[in-house]
Amino acid sequence: MIRIAKHIPRLSALARASTRPFSSLPSLHSLTEEEVLLRDAVRKFANEQIRPKVREMDEAELLDKSVLKALFDQGLMGIEAESKYGGSESSFMSAILTIEELAKVDPSVSVVCDVQNTLVGTLFNKYATEAQKEKYLTRLNTDTVGCFCLSEAGSGSDAFALQTRAEKHGDYYTISGSKMWITNSYEADIFLVFANVDPSKGYKGITCFIVEREDGVKIAKKEIKLGIRASSTCGLSFDDIKVPADRVLGEIGKGYKYAIEILNEGRIGIAAQMIGLAQGAMDEALPYMFQRKQFGTFIGDFQGMQFQYAQIATEIEAARLLTYNAARLKEEGKDVVQQAAMAKLYSSQVAERASSKAVEWVGGVGFTREFPIEKFYRDSRIGAIYEGTSNIQLATIAKYVKAHYAK
Ligand SMILES: Cc1cc2nc3c(=O)[nH]c(=O)nc-3n(C[C@H](O)[C@H](O)[C@H](O)COP(=O)(O)OP(=O)(O)OC[C@H]3O[C@@H](n4cnc5c(N)ncnc54)[C@H](O)[C@@H]3O)c2cc1C
Repeated sequence: MIRIAKHIPRLSALARASTRPFSSLPSLHSLTEEEVLLRDAVRKFANEQIRPKVREMDEAELLDKSVLKALFDQGLMGIEAESKYGGSESSFMSAILTIEELAKVDPSVSVVCDVQNTLVGTLFNKYATEAQKEKYLTRLNTDTVGCFCLSEAGSGSDAFALQTRAEKHGDYYTISGSKMWITNSYEADIFLVFANVDPSKGYKGITCFIVEREDGVKIAKKEIKLGIRASSTCGLSFDDIKVPADRVLGEIGKGYKYAIEILNEGRIGIAAQMIGLAQGAMDEALPYMFQRKQFGTFIGDFQGMQFQYAQIATEIEAARLLTYNAARLKEEGKDVVQQAAMAKLYSSQVAERASSKAVEWVGGVGFTREFPIEKFYRDSRIGAIYEGTSNIQLATIAKYVKAHYAK
């Protein structure tokens, strides 16, 4: 037993003296009334309006226009934006819950909503001028798709090695270069383009521009993909397109800072997409396991199966807690870089394991397109790639761990 000297206050007494009683601390599952209402409404919307179209959209590799319109009509494309710009003025957690609920039904639709909210919307909410918000944010919140254009053929993980250039001529810039793998770009009319205005300054020349499709953006190529096929991913090119100088978003040369900052938060969105996906795969597989019998027993009642789904259920819960915790830390304005990286890394690993196991659990039908589980498995593979690969997340986490121990 630990002996505590009389003059040193006992730790339990210190805790009792705290102004906040333990019983008032909420669990990580605690949601506000508004968040619960939104989550339940999105769940219903996804089941009723998206689920019937999932297979068709995946086969056609195209987002159904009515689904996109419904996302706008339901206020899900501008969740955090102020209502004066047509936004829903909800919390970051509301965006996370929305992304998770959509992914339970279709991770493709989920990422459409994720990019619009956590990348494009956030950049406008934080850095756009009043005039830019009035002109562009209002459209983004109500009827216009936007996209986040950072990656290029030669710069993925090493994003700031980008080659797209912007040159100033009086009151306008010309932008030339190309981008790769840009989510939502097939549907988009507004493009946030990262270009370097002064390569001699290295990454400190990177600037973010608001570009409109009609400025001359060329959609070079729509990728044919393994998963999230209804979400468009295209290459873009800019051939000396003219963009007015008042379309710089934020400050000149601060684009690298905005990109890092936005992607740090955005990763929580991808983590939410991945936990939704994992849960969606479980939700499809488990009921089947209590309908199908082999050897006179429901396959879900074999201990060999029980231990597997118990393990996956535990991992999904852990991933969800990491994600919700990162979201709440972000709302509290705390440094969320490490937690966001952990949430994204782990949730994408869990999504892959859960959907792979779910295919196996339901046997032959799991391997066919009769069941939606194989799609969850295909969709899960993107989690380890976009918004920073798993190795990049590990490198970020390692930096924090090292800083804690290496003096
Ligand atoms: C479907 C899809 C949608 C996307 N959407 C967008 C979008 O909307 N906007 C946008 O800008 N980009 C987007 N991307 C691009 C995406 O962010 C990049 O693909 C990603 O950052 C990885 O870059 P890369 O593909 O060039 O891989 P690379 O950087 O070439 O990496 C290849 C491998 O090398 C590893 N590696 C690289 N560097 C290191 C290192 N330092 N240490 C250890 N390992 C390393 C990686 O982990 C990976 O395993 C999208 C990509 C896809 C596939």
